[in-house]
Amino acid sequence: MKLKALSLTTLAVTAAVLFNSYSAVEADKACCKNDNIPVEKRWTEEVNGKTVKYMTIDGIMVHEKDTTKQPLPTIVTPGTASTQDKAGDVPSDAVVLFDGTKEAMDKWRGTRPKHPNNDWKLLDDGSMEVVRQAGSIKTKDSFGSCQLHLEWMSPADGKGEGQSRGNSGVFLMDNYEVQILDSYNDISPTYADGQAGALYGRKKPDFNACRKPGEWQTYDILFTRPLFDEKGNVARRAKIVVMHNGIYIHDTELYGGTGWDGPHAATDYKAHGDKLPIQLQSHGSPVRFRNIWIRPLED
Ligand code: MG
Repeated sequence: MKLKALSLTTLAVTAAVLFNSYSAVEADKACCKNDNIPVEKRWTEEVNGKTVKYMTIDGIMVHEKDTTKQPLPTIVTPGTASTQDKAGDVPSDAVVLFDGTKEAMDKWRGTRPKHPNNDWKLLDDGSMEVVRQAGSIKTKDSFGSCQLHLEWMSPADGKGEGQSRGNSGVFLMDNYEVQILDSYNDISPTYADGQAGALYGRKKPDFNACRKPGEWQTYDILFTRPLFDEKGNVARRAKIVVMHNGIYIHDTELYGGTGWDGPHAATDYKAHGDKLPIQLQSHGSPVRFRNIWIRPLED
């Protein structure tokens, strides 16, 4: 009897595993058809007695010089790199989200009813610091696909353990968190998919590029927003590339949300609008931010 019960349990588990695998494969087939594959056409022509190969990509000839057919890229004057002492200049077409001014503080709002405004602390060095009671803050403007630059600093005193050590985070589209934590030298280890640079609960960073607490660190993020169909199913997964202090740590699709769903699960995708705010998290640690800018990008 006991053996029979065990077999039935095994059968049920196997069936569940098979069913889940099948569902995942079917879901993947249904989702995310890549309709952005460039269309190539090739032919040859006789030119001055020689056979020349021709090729178009999406109707534009390779090495086309006619700018009415192949317009040149928009010119952007690049910014300058930051140092520990001074934030760099922003690129010419960037939208400044925080530059150390009171006006820039007002580009953000609080998320708690008692703190509808950005009540984080504006410091003399041009940074703003998380105020625990004030809660997380969000941009008043909304964004979709983008290039985002921000600089953050873990508290210099290095207090706290694991997830309580310099925890904050930046949320793309209010949903997808790139974790901020003091993970310098694995000084106070936590789970890998929750350390600095992690896509929280979804993917650990490929490298730990953390600087010491009390030093400025940079995130440069390239984010392509997810698309949802009319039923709310994901039709194109989000894609994210993250550089941490100039070191690549992610180049991946996001296979779901990054929200807390208990100690051992992350949230799934949930359909949302085309543009949503950028959020900076208050997790109780006085993390500082400076030099935050964004370049909205076409999908
Ligand atoms: Mg966090």
